[in-house]
Amino acid sequence: MSAPVETEEHKALRAAVAALGTRYGRGYLTRTVAEGRHPTELWSDAGRLGYLGVNLPQEYGGGGGGITELSIVLEELGAAGCPLLMLVVSPAICGTVIARFGTEEQKRAWLPGIADGTRTMAFGITEPDAGSNSHRVTTTARRDPDSGDWLLTGRKVFISGVDIADAVLIVARTEDTSQTSGRLKPCLFIVPRDAEGFARRPIDMELSAAEKQFELTLDDVRLPADALVGDADAGLLQLFAGLNPERIMTAAFAIGMGRHALSKAVEYARDRTVWKTPIGAHQAIAHPLAQAHIDLELARLMMQKAARLYDAGDDIGAGEAANMAKYAAGEACVKAVDQAVHTLGGNGLTREFGLASLITAARVARIAPVSREMILNYVSHQTLGLPKSY
Ligand SMILES: Cc1cc2nc3c(=O)[nH]c(=O)nc-3n(C[C@H](O)[C@H](O)[C@H](O)COP(=O)(O)OP(=O)(O)OC[C@H]3O[C@@H](n4cnc5c(N)ncnc54)[C@H](O)[C@@H]3O)c2cc1C
Repeated sequence: MSAPVETEEHKALRAAVAALGTRYGRGYLTRTVAEGRHPTELWSDAGRLGYLGVNLPQEYGGGGGGITELSIVLEELGAAGCPLLMLVVSPAICGTVIARFGTEEQKRAWLPGIADGTRTMAFGITEPDAGSNSHRVTTTARRDPDSGDWLLTGRKVFISGVDIADAVLIVARTEDTSQTSGRLKPCLFIVPRDAEGFARRPIDMELSAAEKQFELTLDDVRLPADALVGDADAGLLQLFAGLNPERIMTAAFAIGMGRHALSKAVEYARDRTVWKTPIGAHQAIAHPLAQAHIDLELARLMMQKAARLYDAGDDIGAGEAANMAKYAAGEACVKAVDQAVHTLGGNGLTREFGLASLITAARVARIAPVSREMILNYVSHQTLGLPKSY
């Protein structure tokens, strides 16, 4: 018999995380955002229960699972209305990269804390002049020949959660590759939050979320030799070891949010009666909701495929599937939220029902970490073999 889409363990994890999510719910998140706080209680509980580090190796305090399990955690918290964006960054990108390429000391120093939630790491690749085009990253790492230290200089934008992170995993290029106009040979550095020369400025986003975005400046930030994660010459492989989980997790974030919005709309459409029957009996209301459900389910299937390929060590196969999953989930989320708001009529725009703010939030999955257009470009070129326009 072929492997089931989801094992009994996965279903049990889904149910357990859903129960935690329901205990907190949308109201909790809305209150923390209004109070300008972070969802620390939920983050700590999820860490204590082993959910934050479910993908990390057991010998470093993790659950020994993979991105398959971590995506279940994020999707279910999102479906309950209280997603934790930093799951995309701290355990999924940073935790994975350190677990795969870090030194023994780096693993011991970071993974147990990332797994139980007592330490958090943000991730910075986006730059003002290198958004969709990571090959233009100009943050440069140069080696001090006397001490062996690294000196990092550059700027980053839209970096999430820097205020609550103990460090940021920064994508840079080494000095000898920075002159070449061609392809990026990235290297990754752990930059502690309080490093000298490292400054942050919050960006005023029109997003109702606990996690803030920051512009970062690195002005000759001096780092010890062991701040480098992995090999300075390894190239894109190490970076994509973190970027593929990021895409899969963004899909989980989007599917969770879409499910949350859809469930609110369905609940409302079952009861709200302005003619003889509840509005959910009108096919103009029911069919778009059914379509939204189908789109979310299809996106989840692609996300599960991407996660399974990634966890099986197929980085190339996972790359294509992770892009497609992120695309499908982002689109499904935007449509589900739009239809949910519409289903509630005027109530769709009230604070009481809490759906309108999701219109902006849903767009994040279409833009980040790689935009809809760049995924279409990727599939056009890599999958279909069409020529490039840029
Ligand atoms: C809420 C939020 C959180 C984020 N968190 C992080 C984080 O933690 N760490 C991090 O590093 N980054 C983060 N980002 C940044 C995010 O990854 C970038 O916004 C994204 O990669 C797009 O880059 P850009 O904003 O510079 O857009 P641009 O690259 O300027 O693109 C603008 C538009 O042009 C289109 N476009 C560009 N090139 C092409 C092309 N060749 N063909 C067709 N269309 C094209 C794009 O699709 C897009 O619609 C975050 C962003 C947001 C909104």
